[in-house]
Amino acid sequence: NSYKIMEKLNEEIKKAGLQETTKVVMTGCFGFCSEGPVIEIVPEHVFYVKVSPEDAEEIIKSHIVEGKVVDRLLYDAPETKERIKNKKDIPFYKKQVKIALRNCGVIDPEDFEEVLGSGAYTALGKVLTEMTPEETVKEVTDSGLRGRGGGGFPTGRKWQTALRAKGDIKYVICNADEGDPGAFMDRAILEGDPHSVLEAMAICGYATGSNQGFIYIRAEYPLAVQRLKIAIAHAEEAGLLGKNILGTGFDFSIEIKYGAGAFVCGEATALIHSIEGQRGEPTMKPPRTSEKGLWQRPTCVNNVETFANIAPIINNGAAWYSSIGTAKSAGTKVFSLAGKINNVGLVEVPMGISLKEIIYEIGGGIKDGKELKAVQTGGPSGGCIPNSFIDIPIEYDTLTEIGSMMGSGGMIVLDEDNCMVDVAKFYLEFTVDESCGKCTPCRVGNKRLLELLNKITEGKATEEDLVNMEELCHTIRDTSLCGLGVSAPNPVLSTLQYFREEYQAHVNEKT
Ligand code: SF4
Repeated sequence: NSYKIMEKLNEEIKKAGLQETTKVVMTGCFGFCSEGPVIEIVPEHVFYVKVSPEDAEEIIKSHIVEGKVVDRLLYDAPETKERIKNKKDIPFYKKQVKIALRNCGVIDPEDFEEVLGSGAYTALGKVLTEMTPEETVKEVTDSGLRGRGGGGFPTGRKWQTALRAKGDIKYVICNADEGDPGAFMDRAILEGDPHSVLEAMAICGYATGSNQGFIYIRAEYPLAVQRLKIAIAHAEEAGLLGKNILGTGFDFSIEIKYGAGAFVCGEATALIHSIEGQRGEPTMKPPRTSEKGLWQRPTCVNNVETFANIAPIINNGAAWYSSIGTAKSAGTKVFSLAGKINNVGLVEVPMGISLKEIIYEIGGGIKDGKELKAVQTGGPSGGCIPNSFIDIPIEYDTLTEIGSMMGSGGMIVLDEDNCMVDVAKFYLEFTVDESCGKCTPCRVGNKRLLELLNKITEGKATEEDLVNMEELCHTIRDTSLCGLGVSAPNPVLSTLQYFREEYQAHVNEKT
């Protein structure tokens, strides 16, 4: 639909003879999915929502030619019944702090002049001309940035290990194998601002002593792949990637590798095996990939959102970054808000914000005025947070303490109508499908767990089944080889912890 709108707008611009003064620019995602397609008229920053191709004529004639805002296309705030003209005044955007998504919905990522105008590659220039690799690693370490892909491992510590690791050949990998159901932040960054990732990979290469990077991306993201290819070509042509970058003698090249959509290939060792042309199966750690990774060489693997934070850290300093968020979880996090929430979309918020602020202020509350029951965070590896925790600050450690996890940032909102046993079953079906089958606890254990869940929802289970199910969860968690298996029982365990009465009700159905 957006392409049709763009086509119609261009037709109307031509009809009005405005080609010299008015340009339609295709940007990346604005994040406000439930109000899309959206258009922002700059420099006034008037924001039109739910635009259709039929609106193009009125937008050009009324707004561009006569200077009159098209009121009916403005955002209609349900809380105040007011039509809001500027994006920054819309509650969905007001509390957001955009670092990783800074250029998404702002620039045309295929227009390299615009990309450079947004400040891209200044951080790379800074590290290459003013900083040593050690100073670069220290800046990242001091910023407090932690891996945004799920685990929350300190990024600086990973870079430090790769820098210290011995070897003439080292690699940098960007993990763009986003696989959590409902998570689409990495896709948005790659489609809206691919240069932020390329620049950060080159910085990582310089900091850790690597001259070669790989982006492992799922082939199901064709627009992201297309924009990455264009971005790599632009950066190479401008001497910002490839040989002798900016005349400093530093070489760094980036190659794209395609994943076939296997969830387990988001795990670093499985991803590396897949790039090597082997089966995408995880292997035991240690050694860590930063010591022995791709082709047994030290390899620094970071996810897309983690990389998207690097250039602002270098440009603004570690102290600036660590002043945002909380002491143990610095900076911001991108979440994809989905489920029974009014404002579905992609949001970037400072760490430490409460669930209440995300759901009610940014997310506009629960659909149809229903009661919030729980929020599922962390995808299939995460858990369900009951509404009694609505005031807790969102950060890595608090989420783990209450039985969930940050994960890559999926946030599914559940209301009073959702059955929590069904929710657990949905995620477990996903992990059973995606298990690589290498180890028995995950391959067999999760299948047995799913059978027990089916028995419960069919009203055929006994009290004993409930006890066995809980025990099996712990066995799978304690004995599986990789994170997929270890975390697979989390949705069951967290719903058992907070919504045991729903399991009990299914068991009682039988008696
Ligand atoms: Fe494969 Fe599951 Fe074992 Fe991981 S835990 S290695 S996904 S079988």
